[in-house]
Amino acid sequence: MKLKIAILAGDGIGPEVTREAVNILKAIAEFGGHDFSFTEALLGGIAITAEGTPLPKQTIDIALDADAVLLGAVGDNKFNHLTPDKRPEAGLLQIRQVLGGFANLRPCLAFPALADNSPLRPEVTKGVDILFVRELLGGLYFGQPRSWNEETGEAINTMRYTKSEVTRVARIAFDLARKRRKKLTQVDKANVLECSQLWRATVDELKSDYPDVTVEHQLVDSMAMHLMNVPRNFDVVLTENLFGDILSDESGIITGSLGMLPSATLGGKVNLYEPVHGSAPDIAGTGKANPLGAILTAAMLLRHSAGLEQDATAIEAAVAEVLNAGHRTADIARGNVGATVTTQQMGKLVHQALAQSIDRSQSLHGV
Ligand code: NAD
Repeated sequence: MKLKIAILAGDGIGPEVTREAVNILKAIAEFGGHDFSFTEALLGGIAITAEGTPLPKQTIDIALDADAVLLGAVGDNKFNHLTPDKRPEAGLLQIRQVLGGFANLRPCLAFPALADNSPLRPEVTKGVDILFVRELLGGLYFGQPRSWNEETGEAINTMRYTKSEVTRVARIAFDLARKRRKKLTQVDKANVLECSQLWRATVDELKSDYPDVTVEHQLVDSMAMHLMNVPRNFDVVLTENLFGDILSDESGIITGSLGMLPSATLGGKVNLYEPVHGSAPDIAGTGKANPLGAILTAAMLLRHSAGLEQDATAIEAAVAEVLNAGHRTADIARGNVGATVTTQQMGKLVHQALAQSIDRSQSLHGV
């Protein structure tokens, strides 16, 4: 299969972790006989230095011409004196807008080997595999009117949704639930908010199109508690923008490190894939960055933009295998594991585990 991938590695640890993710994608292309092309473009601080703007026109063109965009992270302390609209992070917000994705997918997976990294007890996190689907372009973050009048001491934000905005993201969540354990939990505050009542009614209306999916509704306040008490109860969790922002960050507690978390944003002109973490200037250039979030992001790219489900699963299994064997970057090293590995070594270990699993499956097919 042919796939054009735009690489926006960005700043700090962005290029370090993205390099490892691209190596894994190249391995998948080589093993599977696929034709993946990679075009690099500037975003963030590196683009400000080279072009005077965090999102150059050429980057927009390359991204829009691609089948998928793989992003590292942006942010560089040396631009902290600039106004927000000129800083590296402005480039990130702009590229998200240009690509126009409205469904933000954040998996929350408990790797058994990292059970000790979570402050939750291992029996609580065991087997957790949740996929958050967060609406990304509506709600309080974008609704008008919005204002802060310092003289009158009044500030206004508006939560506003239309039925079609809810329907399009809900359909993505239903479709994803179908491919997983067929359970959809829709989170809202329908006991207080009309917007939430619209969400609930719209999701209920769609249910008949997906008779194989079980739907439940949860109020966001009780959901925040259930996530920490019984996270195994959830499969696909669908939320509006603000609630999804908070709940998906809360669920990071289950996985144990920011460096492990992938994400994807679907539904726009081109899908965008990025690890959840930032540019981590405190460890940039030290080889301490955990590349597994970026590598798991590459797996999401194969799943959602190329339909290569088996390859995506093989990458996730290779990550689990490397962790089971006791290898750790500094952020996930706890207890009595041996010496920590660098970003590059971790990437190579996943590559080796992936190559071995593909060799094994090819020799099985040959039998
Ligand atoms: P951060 O995610 O960069 O780092 C938070 C902490 O987690 C740091 O201690 C860092 O060392 C650690 N960490 C993050 N990723 C890691 C990894 N892969 N491996 C090991 N440790 C990791 O968040 P921050 O410090 O608040 O922000 C730093 C810069 O990144 C800022 O400029 C911020 O605006 C930017 N940022 C960008 C994005 C993005 O590009 N999507 C997201 C968040 C923050």
